[in-house]
Amino acid sequence: MKLISKRIYLDYNATAPLADTVQQWLASGALPFGNPSSVHTTGKKSKKLVNDTSAYLKSIFGLQSHALFYHSGATEGINNIVKGFCFQMLREKSEFHFVSFSTDHSCVFTQKEHVELLGGSFHLLDVDKDGHYNKDSVIKYVNELSGNVLINFTLVNNETGVIWNLADIKSIKDQTNAKIHVDAVQLIGKTDCSFELSNSIDFYTFSGHKFGAMKGVGFTFADESVSCLSPLITGGGQQGNLRSGTENTHGIYSLKLALEEVLKNYQPEVLKLEKEFLEKSIQEKYGNRIHIVAVNAKRNYNTIYLIVSTVKIDIMLTAFDMAQIDVSSGSACSSGTVKASRVLLSMGYSEEDAKNSIRISLPYNTKKGQAKSFFAKIESVFDRFIL
Ligand code: PLP
Repeated sequence: MKLISKRIYLDYNATAPLADTVQQWLASGALPFGNPSSVHTTGKKSKKLVNDTSAYLKSIFGLQSHALFYHSGATEGINNIVKGFCFQMLREKSEFHFVSFSTDHSCVFTQKEHVELLGGSFHLLDVDKDGHYNKDSVIKYVNELSGNVLINFTLVNNETGVIWNLADIKSIKDQTNAKIHVDAVQLIGKTDCSFELSNSIDFYTFSGHKFGAMKGVGFTFADESVSCLSPLITGGGQQGNLRSGTENTHGIYSLKLALEEVLKNYQPEVLKLEKEFLEKSIQEKYGNRIHIVAVNAKRNYNTIYLIVSTVKIDIMLTAFDMAQIDVSSGSACSSGTVKASRVLLSMGYSEEDAKNSIRISLPYNTKKGQAKSFFAKIESVFDRFIL
């Protein structure tokens, strides 16, 4: 739990507070300012921060032979991959397809327009009620496409917390000719501790602010398949020409500091038990008046996604806000109307249910016994509406 004034912040899938180590480093004021591309000593001091971070990230994720490039976050990283692939296919005059899933983040989903504009085909594959896809159907589907194929898999879903098995993704890689991008944004501090990623996957993307680094910085790993990407952001040729522009040195170093802090303090078993306690308490108290999404699926350790169909979601969210609890919803609100969650609709939920969702996402460093106090707070809001 992070107390921000008196508030209880339970929206860690949206973003995380800055790690203490990052706050202390920024407050120290000892921040190298040189341009990391400069050849003088001042520039080299900044370059060292970037190099140290890259060496650290490669070793933590076990991706020594992948190239690594930084950007402004996963939205940009994924745009680099998808559009970079389209541009390269255009250059090579090859037929191309981008395959994604109906539960992917909107920065993946919205690629449709540009993929098609650039002459490719966009494919949206379905998931079942538990948010899972059928591996054999995906292999069959992809193998029937002619031309070059890029597939996006979301390792941990930001709304539901559903985890997709990396071994399954690897086996799809082995049984097709597709290039594979894994959106790993929600991995850190939310699943078991092992960050060892498979070397056989072409691309992985992360966003720093999801685990305590600064906002506006993220990173992508790319293996030799990087040759099928045409750089989207061109300019001075920084980062091996993968993404031009002077590197966000401070943001980049904050990735290392934040990840070190997560690895030092993260106790996945504690988080898992606390989440289970909170979920069980909600189930026991409210029974079928509150539905837990994908309750039987393999899910991460920090996310509880609820459908409270008897209560209008905007009223409920306001009540949470006034009770000083920060939670979120999968539905979007624009000009006074609530729009159903695309993810829930695609999992087969009704329009009404897909509007009335509440997502609770716990901190990676939730302490033993803390879920009890979270439940007391959450209960105080629910009791006003659900009896
Ligand atoms: N992918 C997933 C699974 C996410 O949860 C998010 C952000 O919520 C993104 C991509 C985009 O990340 P950012 O907003 O940091 O660019």
